[in-house]
Amino acid sequence: MPGFEIFGAEERKQVNDVLETGVLMRYGFDGMRNNHWKAKEFETAFAKRMDSEYCQLVSSGTAALTVALASAEIGAGDEVIMPTFTFVASFESILALGAVPILVDIDDTLTLDPKAVEAAITPKTKCVMPVHMCGSMADLKALKTICNKHNLILLEDACQALGGTYEGKPLGSYGDLGCFSFDYVKTITCGEGGAIITNNKKYAQNADHYQDHGHDHIGTDRGAETHPFWGYNFRISELNAAVGLAQLDKLDGILNIQKQNYTILREALETIEGITFRRVPEGGVENYSFLNFFLPTEELTKKAHKAISESGVDACFYWYTNNWHYIKGWEHLKNLKSLGNLSSEVKSQMQDLNNTDFSKSDAIMGRTISSLIKIGWTEKQVRDRAEAMKKAIASVL
Ligand SMILES: *Cc1c(COP(=O)(O)O)cnc(C)c1O
Repeated sequence: MPGFEIFGAEERKQVNDVLETGVLMRYGFDGMRNNHWKAKEFETAFAKRMDSEYCQLVSSGTAALTVALASAEIGAGDEVIMPTFTFVASFESILALGAVPILVDIDDTLTLDPKAVEAAITPKTKCVMPVHMCGSMADLKALKTICNKHNLILLEDACQALGGTYEGKPLGSYGDLGCFSFDYVKTITCGEGGAIITNNKKYAQNADHYQDHGHDHIGTDRGAETHPFWGYNFRISELNAAVGLAQLDKLDGILNIQKQNYTILREALETIEGITFRRVPEGGVENYSFLNFFLPTEELTKKAHKAISESGVDACFYWYTNNWHYIKGWEHLKNLKSLGNLSSEVKSQMQDLNNTDFSKSDAIMGRTISSLIKIGWTEKQVRDRAEAMKKAIASVL
């Protein structure tokens, strides 16, 4: 996910537009800003690129998830179903609203298992939050069917799959709400930033107000605006939005190179007996930001991961033992280590995560290795990498 690999003259030009006026804020100062509205411009362009009616830019992907949940009127005691394999931002955003994260197993898509989702639904369930990890998507059709049946909100975390599609729709645009991150290591970057997309006017208006202290954004005098409900400050700055505008222009080029490099690596690894690949649901197209594959057993996977690292190949991840992406490393969540006291709803409804059986997730994550796909690699570098990975894996099989 390489936005940072291509920071260049275009980004500098966009940022300079802002620096020349000094209007670093996305709202107001109409007379001083020389007609530069970088955040607004990004929102219009991103909504169009994502085939969505509305886009709300915010300060991070985590903010996007929090604002999206709040916009759908999720609050204390509401249960949100999320996967065991994701980034900590998933439960952070849910808990920030006093809502309750309900963790369920993943399947060989590396995302939510629809059967596990259905089994976890209670009268308090409000939302299902699939996370399209490592460039590919959840079985969105199955999840939408479940959400429709139980009247639940489908919120896609597409932070790691920008540019992928499902049934011809951009990932993030299939559910009720979609969230993106533009942090420094994502497919495109704002430095820090995030976005929410939706076709729901009410959610869009809620998000617009909520991310800016409840401001209704009517008129030209911020001080005189009203506040139909309270919010917080999750605003993006004009400087960050300006970087994102330049990066958005480069998105399709990034996706093309990712696909080329992914294909070379994949064709090489496909020749190894014993390796299988992450399942992409029918109708889905990856964004090719990672190549994800399985070995036959956990033990062989650990050995292969070690052999790959020792052969000098970088950016291959074994998420199973990673502190930030898999439940095994989240003792802070399992033991409810918040700084302050938790709401009574969270205390009473939270699963006992130390004693929940996630052996189905373990059986998949224990056998998964992911290679990041960079866009700065030359073709020779990708081919050399493929050969080195093949050799390292073959040495343990
Ligand atoms: C990066 C990421 C986030 C959070 O984004 P930030 O901008 O870093 O706050 C959320 N979910 C997933 C899947 C991510 O990869």
